[in-house]
Amino acid sequence: AGDVLQDALDQLSRYAVMADDETQNSAVPSELLEENGRLKRRVADLLEVSRVDALTGVCNRAYFMQRLHEQIALHRVRNQPIGIAVIDVDHFKKVNDTYGHQAGDAALKVIAETLKNTMRETDVVGRYGGEEFVVLLEDANPEGLAVVGERIREKIEESIVNFDGKRIPLTASVGLAEGSVQGTEEEFGKRLFSLADAAMYRAKKSGRNCFIIETMPDSVLEPPALELCRESCSV
Ligand code: GH3
Ligand code: MG
Ligand code: MG
Repeated sequence: AGDVLQDALDQLSRYAVMADDETQNSAVPSELLEENGRLKRRVADLLEVSRVDALTGVCNRAYFMQRLHEQIALHRVRNQPIGIAVIDVDHFKKVNDTYGHQAGDAALKVIAETLKNTMRETDVVGRYGGEEFVVLLEDANPEGLAVVGERIREKIEESIVNFDGKRIPLTASVGLAEGSVQGTEEEFGKRLFSLADAAMYRAKKSGRNCFIIETMPDSVLEPPALELCRESCSV
């Protein structure tokens, strides 16, 4: 899709230059202007497909990673910490097995919608894979992260998916991590994601339907002496 998109963009920009120039505009045949409109729509469609997860409408994994790397670069310049939340739906296989895949799909849509409504405008919501979502948190500090973690947990538990007149109970385990940027955008993105992912797995082990926060040590060389974490549920 990348090549098609690039070709379409190249052609579009050539037509656009002609169409924008008033002295040339009358010289542009109407078929070309129509073609220009069609191309614009095609480019918009392709961009949408290349960025958005078809089922849930949130950012797909590749686009989320692109946004994450952009934000890491920005936070490095601003010298501000950046955070991420990894959200994995609890016992989702059982939801599919009990209510069917269509009900499972409907549940994923509701969870994506819940996340979009729960987060700030500036936070980026993505679907990382199957029943795993990610949120990029612009304004991150450990206290703020705890509020976000609990809010996500609570809103998912409160979300309503009805199937065959029955309400499907949904919960999720949430892992959050934050830190100040070090290394390349890719390296830091990977470390931040791994930390939040590990926190999410610990939340699963702690009984699910809870959140756990991990704080990145300031230096990569620093020994991981004391794990700084906060848990919303006891083991
Ligand atoms: P855990 O609490 O440990 O996360 O258990 P789980 O059942 O959620 O985890 P597991 O990884 O065993 O199962 C994930 C399930 O998610 C299995 C897969 O069929 C389902 N799934 C992944 N993507 C989709 C999807 O797009 N639609 C539907 N309906 N189900 C999906
Ligand atoms: Mg999973
Ligand atoms: Mg799961």
